Amino acid sequence: MQKPVYLDNHATTPVDPRVLERMLPFFGPRFGNAASHSHSFGWEAEKAVEFARKRIAELAGATPREIVFTSGATESNNLAIKGVVEAARATSTRANATAASIVTLATEHRAVLDPARHLERFGCHVTVLPVRRDGLLDLERLREAIQPDTVLVSVMYANNEIGVVQPVREIGALCHEKGVLFHCDAAQAFGKIPIRVEEDHIDLMSVSAHKMYGPKGIGALYVRRRNPRVRLAQQMDGGGHEFGMRSGTLNVPAIVGFGEACELCAREMAEEASRLRGLRDRLKARLEADLDRVDVNGSMEHRLPGNLNLSFASVSGASLLMGLPDVALSTGSACSSATVEPSHVLRALGVSDELAHSSVRFGLGRFNTEEEIDFAARRVVEAVRKLRALSPA
Ligand SMILES: *Cc1c(COP(=O)(O)O)cnc(C)c1O
Repeated sequence: MQKPVYLDNHATTPVDPRVLERMLPFFGPRFGNAASHSHSFGWEAEKAVEFARKRIAELAGATPREIVFTSGATESNNLAIKGVVEAARATSTRANATAASIVTLATEHRAVLDPARHLERFGCHVTVLPVRRDGLLDLERLREAIQPDTVLVSVMYANNEIGVVQPVREIGALCHEKGVLFHCDAAQAFGKIPIRVEEDHIDLMSVSAHKMYGPKGIGALYVRRRNPRVRLAQQMDGGGHEFGMRSGTLNVPAIVGFGEACELCAREMAEEASRLRGLRDRLKARLEADLDRVDVNGSMEHRLPGNLNLSFASVSGASLLMGLPDVALSTGSACSSATVEPSHVLRALGVSDELAHSSVRFGLGRFNTEEEIDFAARRVVEAVRKLRALSPA
């Protein structure tokens, strides 16, 4: 067993060796620019890109022309949210020039909340809906929040901290009933649980390769082409790549890796999910058997198979991680762990600041073994006992 044991697969996943192998030739002899149409170097690169695009589309139940490559889910979210609002404003009449409001969720990733905040500075009205104690959206609240000037609803598929899976199909159906576009940040869910953009009524969907055993710095935005055709204002002006929606020379090796990562997920998803669910439940059972005052954050029923988020009362999550050098874990989300603010996700669930500071995220992934899970459980139990023995409470 290699140490430290990596249990932070929501922050990023290791690149699958099969993905790396596919990518390597594109750093070497197959270096062509996919936009070069006058020679075989370019044709070969373009062919590889289109093959990958097809694999990504298939995993989403989309068509290849609906897949726009980006640098990752952050960029995809920005393109979707700013792109829809700006396009709506460009076509609106002078009288309702500011009309374009959006609805999103308190537990969204910063890469959704921050673009929404950005638009607010330009007069866009943003409604941030609360979630229930279990982390799920209340559909009735969403129904009430959608107004005549609402152009977009943005709700994530699965949360990056608590792994809670939203009722996406029902959300999409409601959006379509109301004639509003539905954007879904699926960075954590894509490749882990089945997603079909048609059945889920998704119009725009952000995905990222490094959350599914592909390389960092590559992602995609699914943009629906029919029923309805989504109009987006491009955020990157330039050579008109990616159907005019995202200019810039394509990162061919990364795209090839992304395509392979999708193919592997498509083949292995069902088996991997049940294995991870087994490991996750084993970890939870061990911790709960040996420790008292352990709370689960978020619904266990509507949850990614590889996620567990626990609060250990009277223990600081940060101290716990410091006492666990052999296990790579995270408190809150990696993106906000530079600050000492309690996680906005746990806060939205109504978890007290004290318990939020006592929370730890376990993110299990493809390469974790039973031996690693048992080791991690033992180490966490030891560390929690030690800290509680020291604590005055
Ligand atoms: C990781 C993540 C992002 C950001 O993705 P990048 O590809 O790293 O930009 C956005 N949303 C969610 C839910 C994530 O987990």
